[in-house]
Amino acid sequence: MTTNADSIVLPAHLHPSDGRFGSGPSKVRPEAVSALAVRATDYLGTSHRQATVRDVVRRARDGLAEMFSLPDGYEVLLGNGGSTAFWDAASFGLVERKSQHVVIGEFSSKCAGVMKSAPHLEDPDVIETAPGEVPRPNSADPSIDSYCFPHNETSTGVMCNVVRPSGANGLVMVDATSGAGGLRVDPSQFDVYYFAPQKCFAGDGGLWLALVSPAAVERIERIHATKRWIPASLDLATALEQSRLNQTYNTPALATVFMLAHQAEWMNANGGLEWCARRCDESAAIIYRWADEHKLAHPFVAQSARSHVTATIDFDDSVDALAVARVLRRNGILDVDSYRKLGRNQLRVAMFPAIEPNDIKILTEAIDFILEELL
Ligand SMILES: *Cc1c(COP(=O)(O)O)cnc(C)c1O
Repeated sequence: MTTNADSIVLPAHLHPSDGRFGSGPSKVRPEAVSALAVRATDYLGTSHRQATVRDVVRRARDGLAEMFSLPDGYEVLLGNGGSTAFWDAASFGLVERKSQHVVIGEFSSKCAGVMKSAPHLEDPDVIETAPGEVPRPNSADPSIDSYCFPHNETSTGVMCNVVRPSGANGLVMVDATSGAGGLRVDPSQFDVYYFAPQKCFAGDGGLWLALVSPAAVERIERIHATKRWIPASLDLATALEQSRLNQTYNTPALATVFMLAHQAEWMNANGGLEWCARRCDESAAIIYRWADEHKLAHPFVAQSARSHVTATIDFDDSVDALAVARVLRRNGILDVDSYRKLGRNQLRVAMFPAIEPNDIKILTEAIDFILEELL
């Protein structure tokens, strides 16, 4: 008998310990919020130019340098505006003349669009494939000075390897917004690895972070020294100078900075990037094994490129994935809807380090329960 979706109630054992599975903003650990509350009167609402706040910025920067085992000469930069603002900053301060983009979904497409619309840059070289596939950058064109690709394309759940294209002279600039902190990476393979705290770092948005190599620092300084017009708030040379002082050019969200430092320390205390990546591997193994064996579901992405931080699961036509997401939401399991613009009969599930692998298991059981009731 088909049950009315509105009347489906999940039994208690199918409630995860935390119902947040969104791909960003994503689950914030309650411990981070409690730790912030303790600093309600001596940190929040105080000057970002004073030692109290700068010390938290320093903890965040040191925590990231430790987690990624940054080699000598690599630096941690930060600024306001999230990864989207970083694209704009990169169009002014990192791309010299021409970039190449691997476009495999909405976010990598937006990054390419920024460079394409910049009047001072040549049209970028775009390597695009259908959603779900992964092309590789190629270094055949010597005029390319910046190679751009995502570590994890969040809109489709496709993961790329961070590897320098062989023979490339340009900078390798990786959009790691949703991959950083959950996927393994070797810093020698990138020049710029940028992200924001609302994904694997279980924090809030509005800030960008960039791990930069000595070659990227040299590029930033060299472009700054030319007469190219750069809007002040997007000037990476200013971000470089301010970051070294554990500050930002203009006022940051202090809560965001605090939660980032807290999460980075939590990740490092547990065993660093390798521990985080193993936790994501474990969650990914649970959800993909479930989907592979399912009569009504299957992973959207081919095995070799399946993301270990954002899973995309397609459903049979007999299932209305949106209706499933609605029932889950009514039962306190949030934000597993597919990426709107992808337009597939799909659920998307974040598996960031803060998310308990056992909660992923319970989520799959909750979906099975709902499917039985609906069909
Ligand atoms: C979320 C996301 C962005 C956008 O980040 P904002 O901080 O919202 O600007 C960019 N790229 C990828 C891969 C993302 O997942």
